[in-house]
Amino acid sequence: MSARIKILLEVLAKYSSPMTLTYPSNTAPNRRVSSVPDGLRGIPERSEEKCIGCKACANVCSGMATKIFDNEQDAKRLVQIFLFRCTFCQHCVDECPTEALTMSKKFEPFALTREDPANYVDTTLDLLRCQNCGKTFFPKKYVDKAYEWLMEDIHPAVKDVVSADFKKVEGYCPDCRRALAYKLDTHTKKHVWLEGK
Ligand code: SF4
Ligand code: SF4
Repeated sequence: MSARIKILLEVLAKYSSPMTLTYPSNTAPNRRVSSVPDGLRGIPERSEEKCIGCKACANVCSGMATKIFDNEQDAKRLVQIFLFRCTFCQHCVDECPTEALTMSKKFEPFALTREDPANYVDTTLDLLRCQNCGKTFFPKKYVDKAYEWLMEDIHPAVKDVVSADFKKVEGYCPDCRRALAYKLDTHTKKHVWLEGK
């Protein structure tokens, strides 16, 4: 058989069957995910355990996909990504202070209707209620983490007094903390005095 006929037969064999696969029916789910390259920015995922509800992801979200919903009555905060709006920019992952967010390798779109829960990445947190005015303010996990970070970096000379002050005000909203600072003896002047010692 001549070389030309051989090539012709090979070409015909190639084109006699489809060159592409029908998507998604002909692609196995595990193949779809495992065959994507490293570094692919897929659907963002959030660790319920690590998220403290700080809002940083919502503040930097380029697609306005991440929103925060506070429910005053139930004292709950919902941190939500609406995947239809996500541009996979990864800003939220880079800004999250607790590394709660990751870009997964899942790239396939979600459901076709807006209401389908598959379109949302949700985390719900308990909000603290102010002991003075009764309004909700920060998530409890956020306040606990703030205390932890504060104690890591604080100057040893003021550590005890700042720790005690923090514990006095942690149950009050920012407005009431300011309004009650003298009554609770948590005004900042005394820290200035201690640092000068
Ligand atoms: S901890 Fe991370 S995921 Fe949770 S609200 Fe803050 S930035 Fe967003
Ligand atoms: S990847 Fe970008 S667009 Fe998507 S939720 Fe994060 S910040 Fe918003």
